[in-house]
Amino acid sequence: MFRKEDCCYQTYRRILRDIKKSGKYYDYADVLEKMPEKWLILRHDIEFSVDRAYQLSLIETKEGIKSTWFVQITNNAYNALSEKNVALLQKMAENGHHIGLHYHRGKSVAGGALGELKRDLQMQADILAKMTGLTVDRFSFHRPLREHLEADLEVDGLINAYGHQFFCLTDNPSQPLPVKYVADSNHQWKYGEATEQFFAAHDKIQLLIHPLSWSENGAEHIENFQNIVREKHDELIDTIEGEWKIFDELRGKL
Ligand SMILES: [Zn+2]
Repeated sequence: MFRKEDCCYQTYRRILRDIKKSGKYYDYADVLEKMPEKWLILRHDIEFSVDRAYQLSLIETKEGIKSTWFVQITNNAYNALSEKNVALLQKMAENGHHIGLHYHRGKSVAGGALGELKRDLQMQADILAKMTGLTVDRFSFHRPLREHLEADLEVDGLINAYGHQFFCLTDNPSQPLPVKYVADSNHQWKYGEATEQFFAAHDKIQLLIHPLSWSENGAEHIENFQNIVREKHDELIDTIEGEWKIFDELRGKL
């Protein structure tokens, strides 16, 4: 599990500098187009908070890194299409980052055929593109099923972050693989660790970092969620205040 110092912004800056030092930082589209022998792609899946993603993106912008931020449009904890969040996503894109769809498969297509899944995915990507005015040319699955990873799904106009060029499905992730995948899942490193040594040891790497785990000072697992709950609470209070004329009478009682 992450300790505070493992997931603070200072550590994040160190990771970004190690990525730059590796000399193999690429975007998904450049990997497909230029087919370099060595590459490292940095991706983010946004699970609970666009604000946290935005803050983390500012650090990348300062360090000269432009990565991909996959956002859900059916998440119950945030509305990617709210005026505020659309503005944040647009700013990230203005800074050179890529905004993609973090596809959250609804129950209606849960057991459906792949064709139905593709149509749903395409529809969500279109909605995200139309509502933000941004180019959406890529997607990642949220909690993908094995069969969806095995399918190496191709969707017109969209790069699949779990496509077989970028991801190797295996039951034994510790074995040598053509593409190495490393992620900070459940507030800890999985399948490896984002270090200079790891970046040097593998030719092709997809690094997934969830913005929800990272903050200015860092936080252990429980404290991190306490902070997220507080941030969401404050956001809700601000939203009510903006809508409810007599909110002053209520504020102290909530
Ligand atoms: Zn996800």
